[in-house]
Amino acid sequence: MTVMLGVPQVRIGANPLSGVAGGAASLAGRPTSGSQPGLLDTFGRVATDLRISLTDKCNLRCTYCMPAEGLPFQPADKLMQRDEIVRLARLATERLGVRQVRFTGGEPLLRKDLVEIIRDVAALDARPEISLTTNAIGLSGRAAALADAGLDRVNVSLDSICPETFALITRRPFLDRVLKGIDSLGEAGIGHTKINAVLIPGVNDFEGPDLLEWALAGGHQLRFIEQMPLDADHIWDRDVMITAAEMRRRLSERFDLTPDEAPRDGAPAELYQVRLRGAAPDSPSLGTVGIIASVTEAFCDDCRRTRLTAEGAVRSCLFSHTETDLLGPMRAGADDDTVADLWRAAMWAKPSGHQMSAAGFQQPDRPMSAIGG
Ligand code: SAM
Ligand code: SF4
Repeated sequence: MTVMLGVPQVRIGANPLSGVAGGAASLAGRPTSGSQPGLLDTFGRVATDLRISLTDKCNLRCTYCMPAEGLPFQPADKLMQRDEIVRLARLATERLGVRQVRFTGGEPLLRKDLVEIIRDVAALDARPEISLTTNAIGLSGRAAALADAGLDRVNVSLDSICPETFALITRRPFLDRVLKGIDSLGEAGIGHTKINAVLIPGVNDFEGPDLLEWALAGGHQLRFIEQMPLDADHIWDRDVMITAAEMRRRLSERFDLTPDEAPRDGAPAELYQVRLRGAAPDSPSLGTVGIIASVTEAFCDDCRRTRLTAEGAVRSCLFSHTETDLLGPMRAGADDDTVADLWRAAMWAKPSGHQMSAAGFQQPDRPMSAIGG
């Protein structure tokens, strides 16, 4: 089958800023299977970190992500099947230089074949590091099987350890299930759990130090994420969101934060060593906390991510207004070279950055749950 490279890139909504700057519009120099093997873009960045969304469905309704009534979810036949996911993971790791694969969603634990998918990806010749981003509901019954299948690391999203605040944010009273899920990870032998938290003004913004204290006591690394304009309800407001600077200020009421000396190495989180406020600077650190300042201290220049939606489309950026369908060509019989070249072409056109602070910025039509966070 012959597929014209660049043609299947589908425009989702219109954004005058997508693809700005650099040579993103030019195909000159674009890597193909015969030249550059990796997922290079026109700004010299190479994507080695793949996020695969396994479903757009979720059992929570976090206010910054999903509307209360849910969304029109994709029918099952539109979603990538296990063999299609594994084929794309194989292409990514064997031909395109991907070294880390993170499964996300929607809620990836809603996939009944999650254990099998992880087992298949862990058996690839170029085995990537395999991780999961989850709300941890239902994790307690599956953690041992996931660990056995080859899951290396887990990030759990948890914005509050207060049951009322948790229910207010997620619109579900399930905090106890999440905490049980987190506990089960240690029992299953999966360590280095990271906790992702979004602070929402007037809801949980004053709970940051409590959440950090809880995470440090459990040996987890807490990472605060700036709220991004990726909510289905379009309630994001740049003027009232809790910024990274504000997070550091509030944490410093109880803790001293010292920038971590380890190289960031493309990680979204800026890490800080944590000590109790007023403790001697050479006293032992209580652990680290991360701040993911996607809005106010953007790290697009060193972005190493490529994303697949649950319907098998490549997004070069969370804020893209275009997607490149891989699943359609695969189902139509495209061979591995063709699919890999489509992926390369999609990443070649990655914009320089999300342009969130630019006049005329438009939020993508798809919310975070439908892209894969
Ligand atoms: N359901 C899983 C979970 O919540 O971990 C995986 C998908 S969720 C979309 C992935 C991450 O995106 C979560 O850590 C969540 O907090 C984050 N997220 C969702 N909407 C966001 C937004 N508008 N701004 C910042 N982070 C967001
Ligand atoms: Fe679901 Fe995760 Fe979105 Fe919350 S952040 S609604 S758990 S997909």
